[in-house]
Amino acid sequence: MTSPGALDLLVRGGMLVDGSGAPARRADVGIAGGVVTFIGDAGAARATRVIEAGGLIVAPGFIDSHAHDDRAVLADPQLPAKLSQGVTTVINGNCGNSMAPYPVGAVPPLPLRPVEPQYQFPVFGAYLDRLAARPAAVNVASLVGHTSLRACHVKNLDLPATEDEVRAMRGAAAAALRAGALGLSSGTFYPPAAAATADEIIAVGADLARHGGVYATHMRDEGDRVLEAIDEAATIARALGVPLVVSHHKVMGAANFGRTVDTLAKLQLLAQAQKICLDCYPYTASSSLLRPERLAQSSDIIVTSSRTLPQAAGKTVSALAAEWGCSREEALARVMPGTGMYFMMDEADVRRVLAYGDTMVGSDGISADSYPHPRLWGAFTRVLGHYSRDQKLFSLETAVHKMSGLTARAFGLHGRGEIREGFAADVTVFDAAAVRDRSTYTAPMLPSGGIEHVIVNGVPAWAAGEPTGARAGQCLRRINRGDTA
Ligand SMILES: [Zn+2]
Repeated sequence: MTSPGALDLLVRGGMLVDGSGAPARRADVGIAGGVVTFIGDAGAARATRVIEAGGLIVAPGFIDSHAHDDRAVLADPQLPAKLSQGVTTVINGNCGNSMAPYPVGAVPPLPLRPVEPQYQFPVFGAYLDRLAARPAAVNVASLVGHTSLRACHVKNLDLPATEDEVRAMRGAAAAALRAGALGLSSGTFYPPAAAATADEIIAVGADLARHGGVYATHMRDEGDRVLEAIDEAATIARALGVPLVVSHHKVMGAANFGRTVDTLAKLQLLAQAQKICLDCYPYTASSSLLRPERLAQSSDIIVTSSRTLPQAAGKTVSALAAEWGCSREEALARVMPGTGMYFMMDEADVRRVLAYGDTMVGSDGISADSYPHPRLWGAFTRVLGHYSRDQKLFSLETAVHKMSGLTARAFGLHGRGEIREGFAADVTVFDAAAVRDRSTYTAPMLPSGGIEHVIVNGVPAWAAGEPTGARAGQCLRRINRGDTA
């Protein structure tokens, strides 16, 4: 037996689920200097601090592949919504919306949100520098958003960018990549990025491959034209020569229920010739901008934020219509612009996408919403408890892999996502029998059950049901060294 040597922290007696997808095994995990330095039987080894993990699962800290915590990591750096479900790393800047670059001096168009002057960064690198100087409780990485680039550089947002505007966006994207952005995200589903052509995105992302970045996209359509949208996303990634991440994959509207059979078959076929990963949140309601045309597609809508009537958050459009004695259309118009939850997915589709081999778990939680979708607080624990343990959709090892090892590889987060000697000591210790989400559509901000300890870079960040106050998160910049081992 090799000796563990000097340890800062020993997680003793747990079942190790290492994030690779390999079967659980009994192992002690030793940590020194923020790194996992020992895995095995530590015997009577001593450590400055010991966590007794008998009867518990010891897993890599979860990586939220699809976060919108861009502002929260600076303004609310304890991130209880994420720590409480075992997340130790968030990937921000999704759906085309990154905190930086910010169009300083202008009110950004939705889906971008105005932020206070201290959070306005004219260049992407300044955002990462701030995070490095004032860390959050979790590690943070970020994509640079095409919509954000548009808001800074495109004069008429209703049109495709001009050549000069494209050149400016490409320059800003390249600067972001040099500063450490993980890649480029887009969200052509929404105005003002909806006016962008595939050629515009290809031109803006022209430097992605040389920096080892990825292309992540909230596709142009997740309804009737979802297959065409997949073609467009795959074409863009192929033209750029980079891996594709299909954001929050789903099909929306009753007329499209069941079509993930076709979308997944198509993605699997495309993946024979290019790298493709998906992310998915485990719920049948989506959450995005309030748009009148979506009233007909949804059985109902819960308002999650409203610029005009903030007090409407948490109410359904039907209830507001009844309260005001008007039509649903009129009620929706009164609370716009804003965001809402749409009940417009089929459970069988959600299960199919979650179970797909290259699907990662991502919350898509929007921490800026006053009445957020329950996924912000419960996505990871819902997959562990409801889908893996109770519904037996896949094994615990697979569930953990989808929230750690798979994600680290997809985004090039080297040295994270698995419990391995030499890897960063991001660790989540949980009770497999008790782990569960508690947040619901009617009470959306409740911490999960069963998450016992969360360790970030070797430092306990969550214990006894609350944040420890530590802010040991790191700013994770993309490292360009080709494929992962
Ligand atoms: Zn999105």
